[in-house]
Amino acid sequence: MKKFKTESKKVLDIMINSIYTNKEIFLRELLSNASDAIDKLYYKSLTGGISGLTREDFAIKVSCDKEARTLTIADNGIGMTAKELEDNLGTIAKSGSEQWKTENTDAKEQSTEDIDIIGRFGVGFYSAFMVGDKVEVYSRSFDDEKGNVWTSDGVEGYSIKSADLPERGTKIVIHLKPDIEEEDYSKFADQYTLRSLIKKYSDYIRYPIQLLVEVKDYDDKGEVKQTKQEWQTVNSMVPLWRKSKSEVTKEQYDEFYKETFYDFEPPLKVVHTSAEGVVDYKALLYIPSHAPYNYYTKNYEKGLRLYSDGVLITDKCEQLLPDYYSFVKGLVDSKLTLNISRETIQHDRRLKLIASNIEKKITSELTDLLNKDRENYEKFFLTFGLQLKYGVYADWGANKDKLKDLLLFYSLSNNKLITLKDYTDSMKEGQEHIYYACGNTVEAIKCLPQCDKVLAKGYDVLCLTDDVDEFALKMLDKYNDKPFRSVSAESGEQTAEYSEQDKQMLQWIKESLKGEVVDVVGTQQLSNHPVCLTTKGEVSIEMEKVLNSMPQQTNKIKADKVLEINVQHPVYAKLQQLFVSDKDKLQKYADILYKLARLIEGLPVDNVAELSSEVCMLLAE
Ligand code: ADP
Repeated sequence: MKKFKTESKKVLDIMINSIYTNKEIFLRELLSNASDAIDKLYYKSLTGGISGLTREDFAIKVSCDKEARTLTIADNGIGMTAKELEDNLGTIAKSGSEQWKTENTDAKEQSTEDIDIIGRFGVGFYSAFMVGDKVEVYSRSFDDEKGNVWTSDGVEGYSIKSADLPERGTKIVIHLKPDIEEEDYSKFADQYTLRSLIKKYSDYIRYPIQLLVEVKDYDDKGEVKQTKQEWQTVNSMVPLWRKSKSEVTKEQYDEFYKETFYDFEPPLKVVHTSAEGVVDYKALLYIPSHAPYNYYTKNYEKGLRLYSDGVLITDKCEQLLPDYYSFVKGLVDSKLTLNISRETIQHDRRLKLIASNIEKKITSELTDLLNKDRENYEKFFLTFGLQLKYGVYADWGANKDKLKDLLLFYSLSNNKLITLKDYTDSMKEGQEHIYYACGNTVEAIKCLPQCDKVLAKGYDVLCLTDDVDEFALKMLDKYNDKPFRSVSAESGEQTAEYSEQDKQMLQWIKESLKGEVVDVVGTQQLSNHPVCLTTKGEVSIEMEKVLNSMPQQTNKIKADKVLEINVQHPVYAKLQQLFVSDKDKLQKYADILYKLARLIEGLPVDNVAELSSEVCMLLAE
């Protein structure tokens, strides 16, 4: 017997003993593996890898034996060689757990992470052990003379022995666990249960799923004359996307999504669409209700499944989705040449047309959601809005016009998310700009002194809390002919009347700050705040922060900053006093005020310990 690899053992253990109660899904997993195996062989036959097969030659057979407590699922698909049995079934969810391992090299909390695997990758073949205490896999590869049998109790390990198998394909025999109080495993050897499970989960599978059923013949008196067994096809075999919308229930759409795209939550929106004419296709698109765990990492691969006339060509055709809609899951079925390769896909004119149609469809569906169901649109935007904002900014703004109306920003006046149109629709007469403020959180922005000045005029302020936000707005430049303007760029001008002496003092402070600021001015618009920083020119403070945080940025970028001091604040009087009596101390005050203004903006201060001790010395005076 060979032992399972450690990580496989762990996953297996969790799967078998997990809190996962929906055990019946094992059947769906095994049937979809069987269908994949047939797909693989059918594809080979169509592309010349093997001859003499037609679609009608394929079937999946399910049978059960109540007495023996076994359930058997057999397919005549591609089969597995001994090596493939070893590779595919010796390591659990090979595809899944490998990926999981590389992406979680710093996995912290093992136990909770592990349980998540089930949701993330589907349970796959090993789900058989949720209901069985022994599983046998008889398999003969399409290009093998003989077959092999893989056997395991799902605990320690497995064995592989050669076996004389008359036909190619794979047969899985599950020996059901004994019944316990909480779970009646016998039902999985009951033909009625099996029939309803096949209907429920696997109706769309495109090959016949035949169930061996007992049929009773009755005589005239109503007595059973004879009992015979026959194979009955249970599934309708029409893939979901080939059905008309009225034939498909929401549950079926959702179930298909969860199973095909390994999500444990139903999607936020389903888009079932088709086109005829220049391009012919059917598409089933889903907007997930939450971001996949790796969505905002470089490991995430976008793309739609691509079928040619019902035959799967590729799992992820990336050309079908622009980056800003990379969150969309789904499939496209069209008449394309079968031996289409990665390269030819790229240059296929029809595929480009389909992609462009699909993009338009997604835009219009999102617009629809925005207009008719704001609550769900907001939910969507909080999950994937970042991607749209990157889309506005990317490619030098090539797609900004398509996306600008889909953006939402938090409005300070309304305390909710609004669109740019909402903003311009309710602009005050005479208001020239669309104002925004940047910060880490809305709460932090609310405390920015610069906002007070703009709000005081009765103008709304949009809160930008993601790094990309300001870049996206810079790319848009204007909305409805109204230019965007940062609240920090709003002033920088003298807004208070002051004496010649004050002027000299502010000039003195500016010089004492040694090039840190381009100006120091007095202002009356800061309510209770003593100081703030504003900027002149193109580079804002937020841009300085974002650009300088990029690893490749070696030359530090600097915004032209203006230190504004509130002339109504008591500290201003103190400065006036010190300008006459104690310039050394004035220098210290100026330095502290400037550093505080930097901290308010979230900018770094060189020596915080020094600042803190200076402030405390002043407190102690
Ligand atoms: P997944 O299907 O997510 O890759 P599974 O654990 O379900 O993971 O299966 C692992 C692999 O075993 C599959 O990718 C496939 O190569 C192989 N396999 C499973 N069932 C069959 C089958 N009935 N016929 C041929 N190969 C199979």
